[in-house]
Amino acid sequence: MPHNPAPLHADTAAKPAPKSATDKALEKLGLTRDIDLALHLPLRYEDETRITKLDSAREGDTIQIEATVTQCDVSYRPRKQLVVTVNDGTDTCVLRFFNFYPSQQKALEVGNRIRARGELKGGFMGWTMLHPAFRGATGDLPKALTPIYPTVAGLSQPVLRKAVLAGLARADLSDTFEPGDLDALDKRIGSHVLWTLRAALLFLHHPTPDVSLETLQDHTHPAWQRLKAEELLAQQLSQLQSRRARAALRAPVLAEVHGGTLHDRLLAALPFALTNAQRKVSAEIAHDMARPVPMHRLLQGDVGAGKTVVAALAAAICMDAGWQCALMAPTEILAEQHFRKLLGWLEPLGITTAWLTGTQKAKDRRTMLALIESGEAQLVVGTHAIIQEKVHFKNLALAVIDEQHRFGVAQRLALRNKLRHEAMEPHLLMMTATPIPRTLAMSYYADLDVSTLDELPPGRTPIITKVVNEARRHEVIERIHAQIDQGRQVYWVCPLIEESEVLDLSNATATHAELSAELDGGAPAVPGAPSKVGLLHSRMPPDEKKAVMAAFIQGKTAVLVSTTVIEVGVDVPNASLMVIDHAERFGLSQLHQLRGRVGRGAAASACVLLYSTGDAPRLSETARERLKAMVETNDGFEIARRDLEIRGPGEFLGARQSGEAMLRFANLAEDTALLDWARAEAPKMLDRHPALAVKHVQRWLGSKAEYLKA
Ligand code: ADP
Ligand code: MG
Repeated sequence: MPHNPAPLHADTAAKPAPKSATDKALEKLGLTRDIDLALHLPLRYEDETRITKLDSAREGDTIQIEATVTQCDVSYRPRKQLVVTVNDGTDTCVLRFFNFYPSQQKALEVGNRIRARGELKGGFMGWTMLHPAFRGATGDLPKALTPIYPTVAGLSQPVLRKAVLAGLARADLSDTFEPGDLDALDKRIGSHVLWTLRAALLFLHHPTPDVSLETLQDHTHPAWQRLKAEELLAQQLSQLQSRRARAALRAPVLAEVHGGTLHDRLLAALPFALTNAQRKVSAEIAHDMARPVPMHRLLQGDVGAGKTVVAALAAAICMDAGWQCALMAPTEILAEQHFRKLLGWLEPLGITTAWLTGTQKAKDRRTMLALIESGEAQLVVGTHAIIQEKVHFKNLALAVIDEQHRFGVAQRLALRNKLRHEAMEPHLLMMTATPIPRTLAMSYYADLDVSTLDELPPGRTPIITKVVNEARRHEVIERIHAQIDQGRQVYWVCPLIEESEVLDLSNATATHAELSAELDGGAPAVPGAPSKVGLLHSRMPPDEKKAVMAAFIQGKTAVLVSTTVIEVGVDVPNASLMVIDHAERFGLSQLHQLRGRVGRGAAASACVLLYSTGDAPRLSETARERLKAMVETNDGFEIARRDLEIRGPGEFLGARQSGEAMLRFANLAEDTALLDWARAEAPKMLDRHPALAVKHVQRWLGSKAEYLKA
């Protein structure tokens, strides 16, 4: 297509002024509004308020000296460096710089008077400082500690400091509390909050030198307490706002009906009885769906707890009421497995189920889309393909999202938006095998109703977990032989190699070759010849993936070598041994998920965590902690708690939050008293001072607030 130049005058006039490098860097830090700048608090401080004389200093002190340069030379031994000798009248000190600019060299000319700040080292030649910060000794000493801010490449401290100061001066820092509102907080944590927001911010940006640096560093200083309380309150308010907004929306009433209904027939046809836990959560879900407001419920249950059947029963209630239901899973393998299972249960009962993935043939896809649009397909199972624009439901009333944490906010929103006619929203049931620790449930997920499957179906034998050094790999292979001889099946998960799908693949292929050679009778596997070992990886075409999975499910292959594509949901009850190669590279939740692929039948199951220390003498502290936790417990809740402990909430929340709503200052593990206060305060504030509440959320969360609603 030919390039079509826009009319010159109109175009140039409309263009916004080009952004400066500083603006771009500030944007990168999320500092676009004045209030964002004001709330950008120092990481630490440097004390430039006093001068220490060299004769009264001790080795190891970080001090500031004021002295005259007596010598300044570039030396080349042992490597190029600038060596500057200064004298402060009491003693001399040598300043060394390995990297320096001509301008710095000029500032350090003999005779110049400077202030230098750094760690003092003693030595054979007298005092030295390595790479001290320095400036000309002009003007008064600052009265406050010098803040050091979190920054990004290309944004220097002085420039950032200036921007923060300007933001601080311009921003509206008026309190969002009425007098008396903070009494409860005062009582809870002592008289800490008599600080106004303005006073707290001014202080934290420029604390007086008499303050205990420790209370600033560990955020226990009253000014910090005040800010953390405000931050937690903003988060609680925003969760509460979305909860109330949702309560004002309409959803189809899906009442549970008994007597020959699909729901009852499905229940009767199941080859097992529901556990008490399954009955309890099913009742909670049914109760929500029978109300005219959209359900927003998270079903959490450890791997193997039996969430699928709970979802199927909810779907049956929905279909009994004459509405459509969709189930979305994060991977094709998982979606396919759900599809098979649901088809097996529901097809005999006369239900038409549609299947949607991004990889199916155009013709199949068209057929499915027609079934969905006409309403003939009452149930739709698939991957992200379900939320694409071209998919039109006739009347979607229940959306089930399996492994919800694998989906982004936007994807969940998209599914909800699939029923927008008649101003209604579908009911949303999210499922996860990664339970949410209590403090997170109270904060990030405060607008979610949670149902918990706290009981596994009967007849499961606990999985024994062993940590084995890579050096004993051959013993593990022996063990695989033994399993196969008993007619059992085995998973072998290959090491996770971050940033490299190619290496992932070559690893899996090599392991597959190794195991085939061992298990197929010594002969190298001939292409096409039947093998006891299957190979599954994410780069395979979907058809091939399906075939490999099917062979394993049907027991045609005994061992499945795979990359982490089998991580979620796969259900083959005859598999009783899980080997995780290079287990030290996996996260704790991921290890637990993988382990959950075995122990699904009556046979005793085992999980072997093969580890290697590589070139290091031993495993890292956190890797050891993870493997230890795996051996010590099979309980998903305990695993989640420890995972949170090891990683901290930021990483634990992973994709969902990805910086969107992270708490900057408060720490959920430590600030539980403040969190409790914020939880109690939020509804009161929203009722009594709604305008202030809105202002508070805007101030703290700004545009991020929208995201919290999903
Ligand atoms: P998850 O909660 O991990 O998704 P699944 O729904 O895949 O677990 O269930 C795990 C296995 O347990 C499946 O084979 C399922 O059919 C079976 N199952 C579910 N509920 C029960 C029950 N009440 N009694 C016996 N087996 C059950
Ligand atoms: Mg599942």
